Amino acid sequence: MSAGGPCVAAVDVQVLTVPTDAPEADGTLAWDSTTMVLVQARAAGTTGTGWTYGAAATAQVIRDQLAATVTGRPALDIAALNEAMTRTVRNAGRPGLIAGAVSAVDIALWDLKARLLGLPLVQLLGAARTEVPVYGSGGFTSYDSGQLAHQLRCWADGQAIPRVKIKIGGSWGTDERRDLRRTEQSRELIGDTAELYVDANGAYTRKQAVRIGRSLAGLGVSWFEEPVPSDDLTGLALVRDTVPADIAAGEYGYDLPYFARMLPAVDCLQADATRCGGLTVWLRTAALAEAHGLQLSGHCAPHVHAHAAAAIPNLRHLEWFHDHVRIENLLFDGALDPRGGVLRPGADGAPGLGLVLREDRAEQYRTG
Ligand SMILES: [Mg+2]
Repeated sequence: MSAGGPCVAAVDVQVLTVPTDAPEADGTLAWDSTTMVLVQARAAGTTGTGWTYGAAATAQVIRDQLAATVTGRPALDIAALNEAMTRTVRNAGRPGLIAGAVSAVDIALWDLKARLLGLPLVQLLGAARTEVPVYGSGGFTSYDSGQLAHQLRCWADGQAIPRVKIKIGGSWGTDERRDLRRTEQSRELIGDTAELYVDANGAYTRKQAVRIGRSLAGLGVSWFEEPVPSDDLTGLALVRDTVPADIAAGEYGYDLPYFARMLPAVDCLQADATRCGGLTVWLRTAALAEAHGLQLSGHCAPHVHAHAAAAIPNLRHLEWFHDHVRIENLLFDGALDPRGGVLRPGADGAPGLGLVLREDRAEQYRTG
């Protein structure tokens, strides 16, 4: 113990690799497994858990640099710990997996702090809402029409989630007709009232995105994510000013200044706490967006974001991403229920993120 409360006693990390349930692809990438880098931060006999999805090398950064940075310091002082980690990695280069490493530790520290205080994380942060809207996300370009239909029915009918998102822009945007056909099929399956979103993962050129965006308007598509590469802020702004759907981006934001630069180019900002520097920076990003009159949407890893999402006033929704939902349900007891299209984090009173790691399952998928 110190004057500031219990100190971080240890930071442990493991790498888990989970095969997908079918080949998955979007406009610009294909994969058949997903790697989770899982962190456990310990203090006063309590363990907090955090994670990021990314390269296995992320774990090495945590073992070599971050564990020593936070160990022995007051566990409750997360802003100080986050700042110390950020300073430690200066010469390693912060964007990318380094920021993922900082994020995983930061998330574990938030879970740890809430557990030390015996509170659901949303109560520690202070709730702004009781319900967190989610949208079903998947619709991979690698799916055939039967797979796509099955997944959309599971969300729209099985779980009554009134918002879904599919991937378009397959094969780097070279098959626009297929993109529109799949979007049409999706609209027919979910009916007229559910919200239909698309994500091109940066596969289109500017003019292509404008053309596609105009066609998508006829199908009632209300969210067009990364129509062009997210580094092309001029292109994003051009598409935003031209098509009716909301333009969204931000999933590759690794620090706060990134989001400050992107804000003028989007209708809704996205941020991923497993990449941007953890929940500490995600919450600051929400404030930044609010100051510009924009909402924030949480990208992927829904069980990382749920409690923090309930603590911000300008939340749009969270991404209920098929791949990560499957992994988080597999590895944790206490996973949230998206029925009706909303999560209620903290409703059961469980401390922290409300999850308990299934050690037996984790061991089964451990690769590092
Ligand atoms: Mg996306």
